[in-house]
Amino acid sequence: MRLQTTTIFDIPFSSMTMEETIIYITKQLHDRQDVFHIVTANPEIVMYTKRNLRFKTAVKKADLITPDGVGLIKASKLLGKPIAERVTGFDMMNNWFTHLSEQETNVSVFLLGARQHVAEKAGRTITAKYPNIKLAGCHHGYFKKEDTVQIVEQIQKAKPDILLVALGFPRQEFFIQTYKDQLQVKVAVGVGGSFDVWAGEVQRAPKWIRRINLEWFYRLCMEPSRFHRQLVLIDFVKDVFREWREIKAKKTSSNL
Ligand code: UDP
Repeated sequence: MRLQTTTIFDIPFSSMTMEETIIYITKQLHDRQDVFHIVTANPEIVMYTKRNLRFKTAVKKADLITPDGVGLIKASKLLGKPIAERVTGFDMMNNWFTHLSEQETNVSVFLLGARQHVAEKAGRTITAKYPNIKLAGCHHGYFKKEDTVQIVEQIQKAKPDILLVALGFPRQEFFIQTYKDQLQVKVAVGVGGSFDVWAGEVQRAPKWIRRINLEWFYRLCMEPSRFHRQLVLIDFVKDVFREWREIKAKKTSSNL
């Protein structure tokens, strides 16, 4: 299976469905010699790539960028380059763990990020729910820069198949790209706030809210402190419409 992408604001998003994504990453887990880096990018991340070239370069170096946000799906449709569906980090990992367990593939994971008790609880939730997933180790995400080398060594020694990094963006993407060659894991994924959800510290929006595409609003109500972060979404919408108008103008002038 080849990776199919759709470029939005210069970011090559995977246009695969969740099911196709799971098959694709399972193949990478079995076949890859080097680290397969997955970015789960929401509109906030896309907007940050516009402001920070170093971050944009790190994101574009990833092997797979999944569309983690309904805004990206809507934007892709408006811009005439439809992406099938949202592939969030949390859903992708749960679906993947289910798939690996069904296939009786034994896999080990290392959790890096969040508070220590949160990472540990998230690890316990994952291993209790998915019998084939073993915990190789976990480390909190509130470490000093000078402790990074020791953490990288800890991951090397633990030899996990999958490394989940929940440091928030851009730190998680920079961490993976910087230490990629030393980590010796098969797959590394930046998963944002997923450990908080696995640990039960944060509740995911109920299914019906997700179905009507209002998960972002639910999260905002639950964590009002995120408001200032979400203001950038207004710029995202403005930029999408600007690009849409440009595409329309080009089409009109070529028809003249
Ligand atoms: N985090 C961390 N170290 C830090 C800052 C944040 O480990 O210095 C963790 C935080 O505890 C949370 C995750 O990073 O579990 C990021 O969550 P956020 O909600 O910002 O991510 P999003 O899902 O919005 O990308």
